[in-house]
Amino acid sequence: MGLIPYKNEVYLDWTEEKNVEAMRAALKDVGSRLGRSYPAIIGGRRVETDDEIVSVNPADPSQVVGRTASATEREADMALETATSTFETWSRTSPEARARILLRASAIMKRRKFELLAWEAHEGGKPWFEADAQVAEAIDFLEYYAREMLRLKDGVEIYSVPGEESRYTYQPMGVGVIIAPWNFPTAILTGMSSAAIVAGNTIIMKPSEFTSVIGAVVAEIFEEAGLPEGVLNFLPGYGSKVGDYLVEDARTRFISFTGSMKTGLRINELAARQIENQRWVKRVIAEMGGKDAMVIDDSADLDSAASDIVKSAYGYSGQKCSAASRAILHADVYDEVLDKVVEKAKALKIGGPESADVNVGPVISEPQFEKVSSYVDVGKQEGERVLGEDPGDPQGGYFISPTIFEVEREARVAREEIFGPVLSVIKARDFDEALRVANDSPYGLTGGVYSKNRDHLELARREFKAGNVYFNRGITGALVGVQPFGGFGMSGTDSKAGGPDYLPLHMLARTVVERF
Ligand code: NAP
Repeated sequence: MGLIPYKNEVYLDWTEEKNVEAMRAALKDVGSRLGRSYPAIIGGRRVETDDEIVSVNPADPSQVVGRTASATEREADMALETATSTFETWSRTSPEARARILLRASAIMKRRKFELLAWEAHEGGKPWFEADAQVAEAIDFLEYYAREMLRLKDGVEIYSVPGEESRYTYQPMGVGVIIAPWNFPTAILTGMSSAAIVAGNTIIMKPSEFTSVIGAVVAEIFEEAGLPEGVLNFLPGYGSKVGDYLVEDARTRFISFTGSMKTGLRINELAARQIENQRWVKRVIAEMGGKDAMVIDDSADLDSAASDIVKSAYGYSGQKCSAASRAILHADVYDEVLDKVVEKAKALKIGGPESADVNVGPVISEPQFEKVSSYVDVGKQEGERVLGEDPGDPQGGYFISPTIFEVEREARVAREEIFGPVLSVIKARDFDEALRVANDSPYGLTGGVYSKNRDHLELARREFKAGNVYFNRGITGALVGVQPFGGFGMSGTDSKAGGPDYLPLHMLARTVVERF
């Protein structure tokens, strides 16, 4: 196929009035469509359920964004049955034809970009630039995985012995259950789903309960792109209600999950148990939580270190698995960096995503608001709060102001994933100690070092225990194809989304040898 080389989608420039106007118009348009109902889609058929999921705007919980079906085991069973039978045809569809569907979905997303941004603002509470980065990431996944499938469609080179031909090729695996989180409801859902589909699998797509409407929009885009019925079965539902059923079923071949450590470990455990009629070892691709650290040493450019700590800690209100939730500062520069971080964090504009200049929006939901609020209470007991206020009444929106605690490394706020705008700042005697503190975590997702000392950078290059390590820059916003993303330890199976090893996780590798 004659495609132009892959390149990342360019972000929108919010200083351009035409973009601001287009976004305002999209917010108004999507605003006029709130409150609608979205059924499940199984084999192309709209399927209503007895119960529903009501999704609200986190910046204004009185506003219902939409209502989606709430699947039970009955609909999950229908979806598994449909995906199983559709696998027979889709797995035999050519890789080129499968890739073209992704390219068409990407073109639709580009055309509908402002609308998608507006859904992100309404349902995810995303500031405009965060929403844009996320939709750009979804487009990148589609473009990248389409090209990856074309690269892998005839297999990869291996050696043959004289007189024989050895071939090593990839084939589709089966029915995949795609379980997504709410924090990147367009990008991660699109990325996990498109990788599975382009590899020739059929899927059950389960979005997060908090962003089910965006899930419905993504499902519609694949439909509009011409994906045959039954390849993607859209199954909104509560994880607690249908999750175990989908994971345990004998028809499920693999589970692609992104979410918390707790859920990921449960899925891994349930998937490992063999049940009646099961004919394979289920594969689990799991990307989970983080407690990501940035280490600042005494040689660093302190101004830019402070700016990147603030960006990495408070982008999307700290609700990124890659977010900096620990800043580990060399004792000699501790006060200076902390002062700068406080000053820069104070300047952030908090609010609903109504204009391009809002930096920090609400957290996603009432349970998340309660969880983060309780960590703010814990932090006040454990250390000194140098920035932030007690959270207010959640009825006015789930807003929590950027918060900073000075704590010891053992503090719970410095060890547990909070997933909100809360940063723990820890003092280290020297670089070795700072790196030890950074590594002293069961997680290992992202990490950063700010330093001009070559020995320190090389030491961190070898020893920093994280799947994505960044030097002298922020630690969030991994670009597809440029910064393949996935963690070590309890952060997951290191599947590296957006990288060259990702698609083969969704396929079976076959070796065929013929002697002549
Ligand atoms: P979560 O509570 O684990 O939920 C993730 C998904 O799992 C949701 O769709 C959820 O459904 C579903 N689920 C819940 N219980 C289940 C069960 N028993 N079986 C199957 N599925 C089940 O996580 P979250 O709060 O949505 O997302 C935040 C977490 O994701 C954080 O820990 C963050 O670090 C992590 N994350 C990691 C990455 C990465 O690449 N490593 C990226 C983004 C986020 P419901 O919505 O209905 O509960």
